[in-house]
Amino acid sequence: MYEAFLDHHVHSHHSFDSESLLEELVESARRVGVGGFVLTDHVEFDPSEIGFGYFQYDKARAEWDEIQSITPDLKIRFGAEISHQKERVDAIRDYLRSRRFHYVIGSVHHVGREEISDFMARVEERKVPIEECLGPYFDACLDAVKSNLYDAMGHLDFPKRYSRKGPKYTGDFWMKHYGKKIKEVVTACLDMGVHLEVNTATFRVGFTEPYPGWAILDLYRQLGGRQVILSSDAHRPEDLATAYGAVIRELSRRGLGIRNAVA
Ligand SMILES: [Zn+2]
Ligand SMILES: [Zn+2]
Repeated sequence: MYEAFLDHHVHSHHSFDSESLLEELVESARRVGVGGFVLTDHVEFDPSEIGFGYFQYDKARAEWDEIQSITPDLKIRFGAEISHQKERVDAIRDYLRSRRFHYVIGSVHHVGREEISDFMARVEERKVPIEECLGPYFDACLDAVKSNLYDAMGHLDFPKRYSRKGPKYTGDFWMKHYGKKIKEVVTACLDMGVHLEVNTATFRVGFTEPYPGWAILDLYRQLGGRQVILSSDAHRPEDLATAYGAVIRELSRRGLGIRNAVA
């Protein structure tokens, strides 16, 4: 059904928070009808993180090599999702320079040193307005794009996932309160040739917009962006290509094309 499209962001059992076997992902990709997928398991650089040290490059790469060699009908590529933190940039650079990946997504999962889920729970508990406290999150996204380490910016506007009011935080909300910073991030993506990921994982948890929300994607279009990459951030085999039909239609309605980013 979506043979022309890939899923650029898929986790497997090489991620600390997924149990998907590669064979199951292949089966699911055939079932939903995508042209293939990029394995983007989590690589963490903060020793205090639960996933730190979990990803083993050699094992993951060997397993990818084997599965792709017996799956000629699908394009399966080997990537990573890096948790970007400003203070870890040197370690991340060294890591990426000494290893081969087809596609690397830079994602911000922290506000300062704190994981976004913990941060959001804490600020909402203390009734700190979300309008005021997420500047450092978008600053970190800008730093990720400008670092020149990544092929794509992952799930921009991710904090909405962990808010009690989640789906109310639409692209319009983020643009209203963080528009200046978001414009900087999106402009940097265009200047640096970093792909903007449209991540449909939101649709599995009750949202009606991807990451980032539609208003941010409209801004991207206005600033000259013409194409995005599409992903589901699948943590289970059945999550592959979540809401692809609806999102492909809406992107097209908004004048945005979808590119496949790996050869
Ligand atoms: Zn992520
Ligand atoms: Zn992910």
